[in-house]
Amino acid sequence: MFDARSPLTTGRADCVACGRSHILSARTEACDCDRRENLALHYSLDAETGSALRGSLAGNAPSLWRYAPLLPVESRFASRLQVGWTPLIDCGPCGSAHLFLKDETRLPSGSLKDRASEMVVAVAVAHGIDQVIVASTGNAAASLACIGAAAGVQVTVLVPATVPPAKLAQIVAYGARVHRVAGRYDDAFVMAGKIAEAQGIINRSTGLNPFTREGKKTCALEIAEQLGWQAPDWVIVPTGDGNILSAVWQGFRELAALGWLERMPRLVAVQSVASRYITSVFNGEEPRSAGNGETIADSITVGHARDATAALAALNESAGVAVTVDDDEIIAAVLALGARFGMFAEPSSAAAFAAFERLNEAGRFARGDRVVCLITGTGLKDLRPVLAASALDAEPAVDPADWRSIVPVAAQPVEPAACA
Ligand SMILES: *Cc1c(COP(=O)(O)O)cnc(C)c1O
Ligand SMILES: [Zn+2]
Repeated sequence: MFDARSPLTTGRADCVACGRSHILSARTEACDCDRRENLALHYSLDAETGSALRGSLAGNAPSLWRYAPLLPVESRFASRLQVGWTPLIDCGPCGSAHLFLKDETRLPSGSLKDRASEMVVAVAVAHGIDQVIVASTGNAAASLACIGAAAGVQVTVLVPATVPPAKLAQIVAYGARVHRVAGRYDDAFVMAGKIAEAQGIINRSTGLNPFTREGKKTCALEIAEQLGWQAPDWVIVPTGDGNILSAVWQGFRELAALGWLERMPRLVAVQSVASRYITSVFNGEEPRSAGNGETIADSITVGHARDATAALAALNESAGVAVTVDDDEIIAAVLALGARFGMFAEPSSAAAFAAFERLNEAGRFARGDRVVCLITGTGLKDLRPVLAASALDAEPAVDPADWRSIVPVAAQPVEPAACA
């Protein structure tokens, strides 16, 4: 049974692929049908619940727990880190659109994954389970290690040998037990499942744990609240497994069920050309997935998209769009986000801005459309692409006696033209 649950949770979860309903427990994992994808939690939400709830939210804590009635577990199981309520930065008119950046780089471990880890760890604590395991190529493990450390939960991480150094350093610094697996991510994924099963502990691996989506949906709840309980016209989501994409859609759907939204946003999935399973299926093209190393966007590189069914449903239901961007566009987007908006994003996150620019140029946005790019992770996670692009090494160092050679360069005006 699922203890300490919030009253609106029905205690049941459905398979997004075959539709079968499951009774929820702290250790509920994917359905045993052949798709083996995440289950979707069930809430009883209607306009009556909505009007009772609405007024009570305004004074709540500035964290994702302000939405506790819409979350699976009570807020007393929150970690002390204050996860969520990140700023929605208004960047003003940009081409025909009005651009907003949802700044998830400010979450405790520097990525949106913290929303999911916070929820998984709270479920563990509520059920007296003090061990959580994850197979991850980087951010999910760094995030779980971070939140687990702050909540007294021991975290075990299985990583393939290719994990970027900054992410590995985070995992180590947060005190998780790290095991490097002699194999690929998929081998680590299977191992994590076996260990969790044998030891009765929780597995946070993406696509198995239904609570990751519950945490991530709060990003959509925040965007709507920050826009005065309105949906934007578009939300651009960097996509690998599709868990964020499906979570964002679930968040907006729940708000609609509560009667708080008049319109729904359209979702944009952005993937790397090197790893584009969801985009290819959505656009009716030949699917392709990649191994790590084929693109600088490691966080959206997946061998097997583990939340594809729900992600594709989100794209279909929202009249969405799916695009791919290449590494050159991604690196240009990293530099543009940094120089124009003071936002340092990791390559996977900058892909959202690359997609924004592409769709803007193609005239896909109506004049004044409000477009939110999810900036899902900080640029400090991977410094190599930026340093390589700077080519600073190739320039000779300046002789201090030549100080007169350094003259001011005209500042870039911050105005609509700078975005076009
Ligand atoms: C995990 C991650 C994504 C992609 O999320 P999926 O649920 O796999 O689609 C995007 N950006 C960052 C920074 C991530 O860590
Ligand atoms: Zn099923």
